[in-house]
Amino acid sequence: DRARIKHNIELHKQKQNEMTTEQTFIAVKPDGVQRGLIGPIISRFENRGFKLVAIKLMTASKEHLEKHYEDLSSKPFFPGLVTYMASGPVCAMVWEGRDVVKTGRAILGATNPLQSAPGTIRGDFAIILIWHEQDVGRNVCHGSDAVDSAKKEIALWFKEEELQKWKPAQFDWVYE
Ligand code: ADP
Repeated sequence: DRARIKHNIELHKQKQNEMTTEQTFIAVKPDGVQRGLIGPIISRFENRGFKLVAIKLMTASKEHLEKHYEDLSSKPFFPGLVTYMASGPVCAMVWEGRDVVKTGRAILGATNPLQSAPGTIRGDFAIILIWHEQDVGRNVCHGSDAVDSAKKEIALWFKEEELQKWKPAQFDWVYE
């Protein structure tokens, strides 16, 4: 019986571990960095109890960004998107936690700042460019749209050893 209970506890721990180790790639785009929004964006993920496991400021090359956005390579806005993303430093991050990919997208808000709801990063910070014919591009922050793309993006932007394994002190208070 004792062995069975121990086994169950182990299973429970394993499950909890799987639930909390999903990772997503979040990047403050060049406009977000220039506008001093790294701090507020980090806060929103910290406030929801997500764990920061990697972070760096880097100016990505066009080649790097062409790989990052390869699924969009046929879009008319692709060259402009790559030029914009390469125009200055971006703050690349990996965040970890249960359902962090989906929740991260919710925290970010809709792609088009005209449609992103107040309370989301884009809905609160993305400026609607009234003098510009397109509104979508400068939307402050990137977030992976699926678990698979998150894995690809994390591997593109970070080396395995750049991802920190750590247990935040708050962990025991936020997880029952
Ligand atoms: P998301 O970043 O929300 O996942 P997409 O993957 O569709 O959105 O597009 C990637 C990025 O390309 C957007 O965040 C935005 O910066 C840019 N973008 C998307 N659609 C357009 C568009 N119609 N015109 C200009 N830029 C766009």
